[in-house]
Amino acid sequence: MRAIGLDFEHRSLTETSLPPPTEPRSGEVLLRVHEVGICATDRELAKFRFGLPPEGESFLALGHEALAQVEVGDGRWAKGDWVAPMIRRSCTPACSHCAQGRRDLCQTGAYLERGINRAHGYLMPFTLDTSAELLAVPESLLDVAALAEPLSVVEKAVETALRAHPMEPKSAVVAGAGPVGILTALLLQLRGLAVTVVSLEPEDHPRVQLLRRSGAVYRRGRQPEKADLVFEAAGGALHLLDWLAPCGVLMLIGAAEEDMPLPPLRMLVDNLTVAGTVNAGRAHFQQAIEDLALIPRHLLAAMLERRSLDEWRGSFEGSPLIPKIVHRLD
Ligand SMILES: [Zn+2]
Ligand SMILES: [Zn+2]
Repeated sequence: MRAIGLDFEHRSLTETSLPPPTEPRSGEVLLRVHEVGICATDRELAKFRFGLPPEGESFLALGHEALAQVEVGDGRWAKGDWVAPMIRRSCTPACSHCAQGRRDLCQTGAYLERGINRAHGYLMPFTLDTSAELLAVPESLLDVAALAEPLSVVEKAVETALRAHPMEPKSAVVAGAGPVGILTALLLQLRGLAVTVVSLEPEDHPRVQLLRRSGAVYRRGRQPEKADLVFEAAGGALHLLDWLAPCGVLMLIGAAEEDMPLPPLRMLVDNLTVAGTVNAGRAHFQQAIEDLALIPRHLLAAMLERRSLDEWRGSFEGSPLIPKIVHRLD
């Protein structure tokens, strides 16, 4: 069975052959993988910036944004059911947050993540999965379901920011026009906020046109008007505090190595909040599936470019014109 992933022995991104999965055990189902989205995390993994193979192995199959169909079910799932898997799995023994199902808030950092950290991903035609880690995908959403996982991360960020703001936020700025930035802009508009996106793409770039069609304002590399919420989705948070109106919340969702100076007096006087968030809980994932039905479909469809699995190598290089490459495995 073919699989795309990382060979840690030779430090290369490669295609390999894995033995097909065994019969599912109790609590497991066998999945046929149909689609896998590729994101910046995969491109970082391909540079061996982070990621680990399963214990005792030297290969890690990539792919963590999957749409699959149950091939061999259990009491919970029937053959043919469409599902999207959650990525992060509990640390062992489970910390109190993992034990309550909030692996996204794991206290030990010893969690597994399929396709990232000590567990194989989904860039292979069949895989076993834990029955309880799957969410049902309605057939009406199959064309955009590859966005459920990245949108679940955005759901958590938006929910956290709305909760952290002491009043009712009306405006938001999103820094970055990658898939996460665009999904953030779409979701914030669905929640009724006026959204400005700041990024470096030229005006005629397809991502900018998509954002404009959604109703967002686009500013190329220019400081926007101050906003109630600012989302950092570009991997650099310097100066973003300057974009916050009083009582504002800065949410960090892009990974940045740089230090960020925090002005204590202004934060205090203006009641500012800075928060970070990663991954998503089950409720966020469920909300993402529900919101995929509510965000205008033509905007979501414009985010996606489908490719065959044979074209995998190019998907791990550079930044694609269309935000999200999705590999079909069937
Ligand atoms: Zn991803
Ligand atoms: Zn934990």
